Amino acid sequence: MWQELNRQILAGQDFFDDQCRSLLVALREQSVTIYCKAGCSNCCTLMVNATFPEALLVGAVLAPEQFDAVAAHAEGLARIACDARDFKDYLRRRRRDLGPCPLLNADGRCGVYAVRPIACRALFATRNSAWCAVDFGTLHSAEKEAFMSSLDPSLVAFPTHYLAATQALGQQLEARAAAAMVSRWGFSLNGSLAFLLFLEQRCRLSALIPQGLAATRQALAAAGYDLPFVVNYDPI
Ligand code: SF4
Repeated sequence: MWQELNRQILAGQDFFDDQCRSLLVALREQSVTIYCKAGCSNCCTLMVNATFPEALLVGAVLAPEQFDAVAAHAEGLARIACDARDFKDYLRRRRRDLGPCPLLNADGRCGVYAVRPIACRALFATRNSAWCAVDFGTLHSAEKEAFMSSLDPSLVAFPTHYLAATQALGQQLEARAAAAMVSRWGFSLNGSLAFLLFLEQRCRLSALIPQGLAATRQALAAAGYDLPFVVNYDPI
């Protein structure tokens, strides 16, 4: 039952990568610089969300030691999600206390590159990648204003320095994956990639989802994992 969805996701990722390649060629011809390069991992300190079918694809290639790192990260996410005052506080503490994605290799490369989710594929930095690691909450307003006024609003998902076009296409593909889940099971589920991987391993989420939203939420709540910020349902 998940195989067909997985095939759709893989086809969507191939299509997305093709579109990105063409766009990057066009941008180069317009002398637009994209600063991303292999081994640069600053964007892997951002929150990494995925649709559940994408998480299943990642889970299928995880080595045991990668899963151990994911589980430790997910337990940290659960603690922070329970304690956080609000979403902003959750984001700040997640980045400060847990560090980068647990799938990041020591050499700064993605440990699941071939199946990384669209949210990761969609980030293309139009400013030096050092900006990807900046916690904007710690900047003075003058620094923030200088950064924002340096951006090209016709190119980026303002006020970030990431290309808007790739993010918009990524969101379309994520919406398509969500719609495919809704048409099968009446709801879709997305959230923190690490947490979804953890839930699949601990709670067999892929077997719960076909039982419907109420049964899924009940089982996760009973395990203590129906947490705000890390798992999202649509409709709620
Ligand atoms: S899945 Fe890969 S690309 Fe995405 S945040 Fe993790 S290490 Fe980075």
